[in-house]
Amino acid sequence: MSFIDNWLRSDIKVINAYHVPYSADMVKLDAMESPFPLSDELTSQYLDYLADAQLNRYPSPNADELQQTLRELMDIPDEFGVLLGNGSDELIQLLALACDTGDTILSVAPSFVMYGMVAKFTRLNYQSVALTNDFEIDADAMQKAIQIHNPKLIFIAYPNNPTGNMFNRATIERIITSSKAMIVLDEAYYAYATDSFLTDIAKYPNLVLLRTVSKIGFAGLRLGLLIAAKDTVKQLDKLRLPYNINTLTQVSANFLLQEKGIINANASIILAQRQILFDALVKTKVLKVYPSQANFILFKAPNANILFGFLRDNGILIKNLSTTKQLTDCLRVTIGTLKQNQKFINIVKSFYNPTRRRK
Ligand SMILES: *Cc1c(COP(=O)(O)O)cnc(C)c1O
Repeated sequence: MSFIDNWLRSDIKVINAYHVPYSADMVKLDAMESPFPLSDELTSQYLDYLADAQLNRYPSPNADELQQTLRELMDIPDEFGVLLGNGSDELIQLLALACDTGDTILSVAPSFVMYGMVAKFTRLNYQSVALTNDFEIDADAMQKAIQIHNPKLIFIAYPNNPTGNMFNRATIERIITSSKAMIVLDEAYYAYATDSFLTDIAKYPNLVLLRTVSKIGFAGLRLGLLIAAKDTVKQLDKLRLPYNINTLTQVSANFLLQEKGIINANASIILAQRQILFDALVKTKVLKVYPSQANFILFKAPNANILFGFLRDNGILIKNLSTTKQLTDCLRVTIGTLKQNQKFINIVKSFYNPTRRRK
């Protein structure tokens, strides 16, 4: 037995590491990234701006300038506080670190896997309430779970990943008002959704919002934000590691996130492409396609595993969820460019209609 096998916490030893599949030279439609690179013109301006970064110094500790840039990009009212994270994943972890020994984190299933993973890393209890067949929150089961488990934190992704839908607003409001927990609404896909709880923060002291720039074109920056009442942010900030947002991210985001026009235009393209891809998937008649308020579409496919492999063999990587509970035979495709989406849909069509494949 090796040193680490003896040394490591047994509950960490048995888990599978977060799996990132090999994707070199593939059309990457698996991770909700934006398909749009920076323009050449913007890249050269950006590189000039970056040249002034002082890499011999520690970053700005509170990243005040970047906070202001994000407030303007996302229309965050001055009355709310903002806490920055190295991706919103880091903020999920920070919230777990704010809990006491023995506390419980509650969420729904299926949802974002990181909630359960972080609960495990931080030795907290984790409970999830199964969504209904149409991926809605089961309000009664949720109330029951809140009574039984008395959770300290409740994570709700809005819209939800991997299902793509937005839960009923009244159900969420009832959870917020009927629980003593901190309710964390994870709005990673806010740019593609028709609703947000941003302004509701003023109404509910126990409501906290998470957002990220990962799904709007900047996954490589690793930058997420927590938005909440100012006194909440002030206390949570004690758990943030000093200088958690590195200089290259701060300087890059300060420059690139000023481009609100480009960011919004790209989001509009994705919304239009989402509709086109949705219609095309429905038209195949063999797939069950779930409506989406995010930059991806979930669909149930006959022979899902084989279709997934067929797409991969043809150079397209999507996400295989077919072994996830309640998502049997389900696959998730991220919205790409017009060309990428066309290539994807053509391969799906040829899979189910092999006579066309031979022509
Ligand atoms: C992608 C995603 C995140 C992770 O965002 P990062 O800022 O890249 O860490 C958080 N929550 C949900 C629901 C997501 O889908």
